[in-house]
Formats: sequence, C-alpha cells, structure tokens
Amino acid sequence: MEADIREVFSSIQGEGPYVGYKQLFVRFCGCNLKCKYCDTDFDTAHASKYSASGLLKLAEMNQDCHSISLTGGEPLLSIKFLKEFLPKCKLPVYLETNGTLYKNLAEIIDYISYVSADIKLPSCTGLRQMWDLHDKFFKIASQKILFAKMVFNNSITEDELIKACNLCKKYSIELVLQPEMVDNKLSVSSEFMEAILNNALKYYHNVRLIPQVHKFLNVQ
Ligand code: SF4
Repeated sequence: MEADIREVFSSIQGEGPYVGYKQLFVRFCGCNLKCKYCDTDFDTAHASKYSASGLLKLAEMNQDCHSISLTGGEPLLSIKFLKEFLPKCKLPVYLETNGTLYKNLAEIIDYISYVSADIKLPSCTGLRQMWDLHDKFFKIASQKILFAKMVFNNSITEDELIKACNLCKKYSIELVLQPEMVDNKLSVSSEFMEAILNNALKYYHNVRLIPQVHKFLNVQ
C-alpha cells in the first residue's frame, strides 16, 4: 500500500498549544474541503509515493522528534495507508485534521495520541456550516488529547463564536483562536483579535489566541 504524499520534513510546530516542539511532518495530498483561505500545496500532481515501510524508516531516523504530525490536505483521506502504517509507528502520532471525516477517524483512533481538529467557520471558509460533522468528530477524538483550532477573520459572527465555545465546552477541550494570515501578515488588527478573545471568554473559559508562529519564525 502506498500513499500520495506531498512532502516529509522535520520542523517546528507552529500552531496551537504544542507550538515549538520539533516534529516530523508528513503532508498528505488531497482534501475533502476547499477553504477560501487555504494556502497549502497538497496537489497530487506534485506527490511522491511512499510505502508504509519507507515512512517507518523515516520515523525511526527522527526519534528526537516530539511526535509525527500527519497533516495535509486531509490525512484521514489516506485511511487505508494509515491502517497499515500506524500500528507499526514508534513515534507518538499527532493528527492535524479538518475535523469532518469522523468515520475514518474511528478506524484509527486507537493509534493516535494527539488530535488537532479544526472548527470551520462559514464566514472564513466560504463553505457550508459543519457543526454536525465537528460534533461527531469531537465525540470520537475526545478519547485522546484533543484541542480545537479555529481560523477567523473580520467576518466572524457572534453566532459562530457562541457555537464554537459551546462545542468545546461540551467536550471540555481547549479552543485555540487562530487569526487568518494573508500574504504572511495578520488579516485582523490587534484590537480586533483581543476583542474576539475577550468575547469568547464570556462564553467559555478555556480559550487561547495563538497565531501561526512558524510564519514569524520563517520556518516551513
Ligand atoms: S481543510 Fe485545510 S487543507 Fe483542506 S482546503 Fe481547508 S485549509 Fe486547505
């Protein structure tokens, strides 16, 4: 079994509460969504084929990493490959996902240590709302160390903020607010970010604001 993988590299985690840890990143090709703000190159036209054994060797060579980050695109689309690879992987597994493919998650949740799951806001993605999918996803993911990451911009609504806070409260998980970046610059003002954080804290206590730190560090 082989997977279409865009790139494998070790670098510093730049998002969420595990920011600063060294990880082995595996960027899978393909995604089931098409967010307006997406700046990730996960096109299969630029893919390399990796076997499970080939990737296991790379994991063995990077034992100084905190974990192996499965990212994308959407790594859960490569479910057949993951079912072969994950049971043999010695590094702790950190899954970065858009938080929608809950049936696929259920098939591999036993092998995952950390789940960084997105909350997708229609105001930012330009897509339909996905609260139902996120709820089903979080129910399964909350067996493990789980946090939610939510990209927002100036268009975020009060209703979206309340729904996100309520969802994270339901599963007692941290909500990370991540301001959208445009051309490597914050798309919102400091005052706006602070106001959104303060507003969220009215509805739920476990909320943090963390921008994409790797863009400031100028690492991949
Ligand atoms: S879910 Fe992530 S990878 Fe997929 S389109 Fe949205 S931002 Fe891009």
